[in-house]
Amino acid sequence: MSHAERILMGPGPSNPYPEVTEAMVRPVVGHLDPGFLALLDETNDRLRTVWRTDNPLTFALSGTGSAGMEAAFVNVVNPGDVVVVGVNGAFGERMCDVARRCRAEVVRVEAPWGQPLDPEQVLAAHPNPAVIAVVHAETSTGVRNDVGCLSHGKGDALLVVDCVTSLGGIPVEIDAWDVDLAYSGTQKCLGVPPGLSPFTVSARAVERFVERPQSWYLDLSMIADYVSAGGARAYHHTAPISMVYALHAGLGVLVDEGLEASWERHAACGAMLHDGLEALGLELFAEAGHRLPELTSVRIPADRLPDGMDEAACRRALLDRYGIEIGGGLGPVAGQVWRIGLMGHTARLRNVALLLAVLGEMLDG
Ligand SMILES: *Cc1c(COP(=O)(O)O)cnc(C)c1O
Repeated sequence: MSHAERILMGPGPSNPYPEVTEAMVRPVVGHLDPGFLALLDETNDRLRTVWRTDNPLTFALSGTGSAGMEAAFVNVVNPGDVVVVGVNGAFGERMCDVARRCRAEVVRVEAPWGQPLDPEQVLAAHPNPAVIAVVHAETSTGVRNDVGCLSHGKGDALLVVDCVTSLGGIPVEIDAWDVDLAYSGTQKCLGVPPGLSPFTVSARAVERFVERPQSWYLDLSMIADYVSAGGARAYHHTAPISMVYALHAGLGVLVDEGLEASWERHAACGAMLHDGLEALGLELFAEAGHRLPELTSVRIPADRLPDGMDEAACRRALLDRYGIEIGGGLGPVAGQVWRIGLMGHTARLRNVALLLAVLGEMLDG
């Protein structure tokens, strides 16, 4: 069966909300069309609601979550700046790589995969860093790192937070947590296809933009002239029109449901999955108290896999037979853990019930 046919098969779990799929087939207008600019402004307003911020510079960057990560560093890091990065998974590691390419002096604060970062250790790592950067929801391990407690001790440092897998799924409070730059992605808990990176910048961070970022495309001060409402819009690059329609629709679904209601839905699904996996005798990988509802990591029960099937074959069977896609482990935990996402539209109790039933049968059958 081709991939396209599987998508058309429905009504199994799918990532985009149906409203979003509909939005993407609307006629494509010009990127300076007044109607489109109004929709862009409304999208940015919805983003402020979801980010819980009043930051004027709040918009969706063209590119996936990693483009957001790159934009966050390239606009505020000068060569030689000290950047403290919390590393307890693949995405903290990616932050280090990006910061190094900005020629920062990177100070790593590590925790083992599966464990949360120690916020006090992050704050104590350097007396006066230019930037402190952490991943809020580590998708490679299913661990939530505490962000709210970093603002009190950050001093002059700018706080950069990766919210790719947290936005819409668990509480994110940009203003209350005094976060300076945050980026997300559309395809995780927002339930929109990949392609944009919701982004928000504090006034304090705008003041600290480097003069000529190494990237032209991700130069936030140039992009700001296009995205800011009110004044004359200066062309910078063509907005990906259909993706903005999609994000506008996805945020509409989220705002209609209510942000808190969405957090609760993700929490209920995560709790049911965590309990259900333990009831099947499986061991959760992420430390209790810091487990994400939207991404669950579980140790693969190597001795309980069906005869002749390795872990990849099990995942493949889940996909082919039931339309359920789960992820394998990354980096040091490849082959050791499965990662189960419940994000956006897929965070439904019925999806959890189906997976638990199928997994129970597969492991004991
Ligand atoms: C998915 C993810 C990214 C990268 O986003 P892309 O859209 O794949 O570029 C970055 N950080 C975290 C925590 C993620 O989960």
